[in-house]
Amino acid sequence: MKFGDWKVTPCVAGRFGLDGGAMFGVVPRTMWGRLLPPDELNRVPMVMRVLLIEGHGRTIIVDVGAGAGHSEKHRQIYAFEDTDHLRDLVRAAGVDPASITDVMLTHLHFDHGAGTAEPDGDGWRLVFPGVRHHVQKSQWEHALHPNVRDRASYYDERIRILESERVLEIHDGPWSLGPGFDLLVFDGHTPGQQLPLVGGPGGKMFFCGDLFPFHHHVPPPWVMSYDLFPVTAMEEKARILERAAAEEWVFLFEHDAQVESCRIVRDGKKFAVAELVPG
Ligand SMILES: [Zn+2]
Repeated sequence: MKFGDWKVTPCVAGRFGLDGGAMFGVVPRTMWGRLLPPDELNRVPMVMRVLLIEGHGRTIIVDVGAGAGHSEKHRQIYAFEDTDHLRDLVRAAGVDPASITDVMLTHLHFDHGAGTAEPDGDGWRLVFPGVRHHVQKSQWEHALHPNVRDRASYYDERIRILESERVLEIHDGPWSLGPGFDLLVFDGHTPGQQLPLVGGPGGKMFFCGDLFPFHHHVPPPWVMSYDLFPVTAMEEKARILERAAAEEWVFLFEHDAQVESCRIVRDGKKFAVAELVPG
């Protein structure tokens, strides 16, 4: 896919499952269960879709999935599958892993950022050593001191290695990585979630991260229980939907196992999905 000067290649960096009730917050199972039937443990199927983005002399990977080295307990809870082949995935997409210039981390929850490191003896080593890893300041500070509600989403050793290996590049607020590659910042899900808006007048792609994990999350009230500030998340979604419909953005979903991308269209006072591309 081409958006402006940037070539965008989505890749699925593993599969997992999270509790369907947690994924849909106050929406009752009688509504979401029809759209996305859960397994016998009430988990809904999810992917960790990452993006390879090439242009202007740079090769960027946006998020890295959950990576390798999970405990048996976590494997059972999250049903991780194929999360430990990131380099192979990059190669299969026609990109030499050594040519990656930037690791863009939307935020540091394990299903987005734990794949930055892999087991190395008793410790960890970076999957992309020496490459700058971009994180928002408020997310970094939160990740070092998470609250009791979201502590389980942060894998401390795989976060601190970014600092000890001196690859951390901190940003404070919205910024641009290059011409037509903007990072928008959201605080409803977690402080400082940065999501890429990439392209130009011919078309733009918005990577939905945990703002719209599935296409089912397009209606603003459909927010996750994981969101620390759900009302903020709803307001952020409403603002983005206005722009997405007006400027005909492509939405690319990080966690939707059924739908890779769609467009947003106005439907009276609401918004609807169109041009769904299967995942
Ligand atoms: Zn998250």
